[in-house]
Amino acid sequence: MLRIARMTSPSPCTGLQRVARLEDLPERDKDHDCGGFGPHRICVKVDAVAELPTRFGRFQIVAFWNNRDGKDHVALVHGDAMGASDLPTRLHSECLTGDALGSLRCDCRDQLEVALRRLSSMRRGLLLYLRQEGRGIGLRNKIRAYALQDRGLDTVEANRALGFRDDERDYEVAAHMLASLNVASIQLMTNNPDKIAQLKRYGVNVTKRIPHVIPPNEFDRRYLLTKALRSGHQLEIDGKPIFSEQDDPVVVEEAVTAT
Ligand SMILES: [Zn+2]
Ligand SMILES: [Zn+2]
Repeated sequence: MLRIARMTSPSPCTGLQRVARLEDLPERDKDHDCGGFGPHRICVKVDAVAELPTRFGRFQIVAFWNNRDGKDHVALVHGDAMGASDLPTRLHSECLTGDALGSLRCDCRDQLEVALRRLSSMRRGLLLYLRQEGRGIGLRNKIRAYALQDRGLDTVEANRALGFRDDERDYEVAAHMLASLNVASIQLMTNNPDKIAQLKRYGVNVTKRIPHVIPPNEFDRRYLLTKALRSGHQLEIDGKPIFSEQDDPVVVEEAVTAT
């Protein structure tokens, strides 16, 4: 059972009855409107479901509407994930510059690709692609922060100079997406135990942490190992410290086996 954080949102989602297939979710959710999750009372509903063959494996893509900011969050579902227990799950925060454009200012694309490959090699798996670009400050502001970093500020200083906290992400929407998919419990693919604590606050039952370890290939081995060997979340561009946009420190296979 997915337990609901009653302190912040009493019984928000009692109406999410189980359905047989993902394709049945838009019909189930068409009139869904609940008290919402977390302090922002986030409510999402499934709007559309389609097949999504990718270069990383076969998935179904589930599009969610939400009542807060109109952003289209999506879930990539591999195998039979509806109502699953101990479902291997990855939360990925959108990064247009990394995910789509191949930016080397961050490691988001490496983390996304490895997650999708791993999940599609398993019997079942789930990736929630959360539209919280740039640690939650949005694309335009992320680029403004990059510009400040180019002038010597680090990520935290740059975000604060723009009037944001250093991390504006939250996982209320992820908690509701899991409830919408009737997921009973997850094994979270992450190197960051704090992410598990955040999800638990919203009532998500996390039964295990799966380390998110990136295997280097012959082209990026040196690059990834260098990143992994730097401390914590910190990376560097031209000697200036920046922070990972995903909240996971990089862990690389060879660095793990070497220690
Ligand atoms: Zn709802
Ligand atoms: Zn990124």
